[in-house]
Amino acid sequence: MKKTVIWGSGQIAEGLIRANAISGISFILDNDKYKTHTLFFGYEVIHPDEISEWKDYFIIIAVRKWNDISEQLDRYGLRYGQDYIDCFSYDHLQVDIRSVQNAVKKFCFKTDDGEFCVPIDNYEAFSDLRNSKKNVLMFGEMLTEIYRETYGDMGLYFGYCPVCNRERVFHVNTVNGEFNWRESVADDVCMLNLRQRFIYSLCRDRYKGKKIYMHEQITNLFRYMSTLENEVVGSEYISPATEGGTIVDGVRHEDVMNLSFDDGSFDVIVSCDVLEHVNDPKTALKEAYRCLKTNGTILMTVPFNPNMEKNVRRAFMRNDGSVENHLPPVYHGNPLSKEGSLVFHDFGWELLEDMRSSGFKDAHLLVYYSPEKGYVSNRMQFIFEGNK
Ligand SMILES: [Zn+2]
Repeated sequence: MKKTVIWGSGQIAEGLIRANAISGISFILDNDKYKTHTLFFGYEVIHPDEISEWKDYFIIIAVRKWNDISEQLDRYGLRYGQDYIDCFSYDHLQVDIRSVQNAVKKFCFKTDDGEFCVPIDNYEAFSDLRNSKKNVLMFGEMLTEIYRETYGDMGLYFGYCPVCNRERVFHVNTVNGEFNWRESVADDVCMLNLRQRFIYSLCRDRYKGKKIYMHEQITNLFRYMSTLENEVVGSEYISPATEGGTIVDGVRHEDVMNLSFDDGSFDVIVSCDVLEHVNDPKTALKEAYRCLKTNGTILMTVPFNPNMEKNVRRAFMRNDGSVENHLPPVYHGNPLSKEGSLVFHDFGWELLEDMRSSGFKDAHLLVYYSPEKGYVSNRMQFIFEGNK
């Protein structure tokens, strides 16, 4: 059986390796003599002159101008498709990296909408923003089309990861054939998706040294947040019988509707996709408010439908713990439970009202976008923010 070899040690080859797009790579080929016998992401770089039996290898060309390499390989007696292929046509990859890179350059970096983070108070302001950022939405639509046409189930996006502090390849994933942007564009090194990277950089840049409580603990986001110069406390919901503040196998139990912390314990509370699983989100918001210091901030992500005015209750938990479904049950992933967590609410603009009535001042949405960091979408991405 032929051994698999990548030709090229540039950005495209890096993308393939980081995305684990090709399995069983033997080494890297490159014409550049300065690179010979150096390591490229753990693989040795070999000069073509060193190869005696070309037929032993299947070569995937990972350079943009692959025609030159193709001619070189033809001279060695190799045949396209049989002995080598360009990565842009490689079946398992199903990726046209070039088209994404071109799209990013063409549509984003040339517009004024390179990056933004705008606070929004209500639907009208949101509509105005959407209308003024047509390029952004168009870019998202175009990305969606590119991925849909060329990639099948997975696409790659090249961007800068603020957590890893370097250029990365992000994965764009589909759920049932649809792109779920907010859960996607995930970096396969830090494993954080778009909204998690954004939360991380907000905490790092705006809340340096502050004391943070997170409604999660056994997640990658918590792990990375713990590396910041902040005191970070996290918790999970272990069981109804567990008392708040109890540590079980290193994991702290808290009921977000009844926290065990003293009033004014934290500067920042981070709640990522937790509130939709809570029977009474207002109680959880009041608890968060209570545990924040004066001028403290809540940063919150939830699935939010900006076209919906009111929240919709999907399920209700009775006092005896049994659940009454008002709508067909929907579950989201939960690291502590195989079946996942039931969604109790779908949120519309009413959530901002709930935040305000729970005491939060100037509760608003932060609408954020950065093609460079992979904060992209065919709609918009948001987090909820409010201050005590
Ligand atoms: Zn990263």
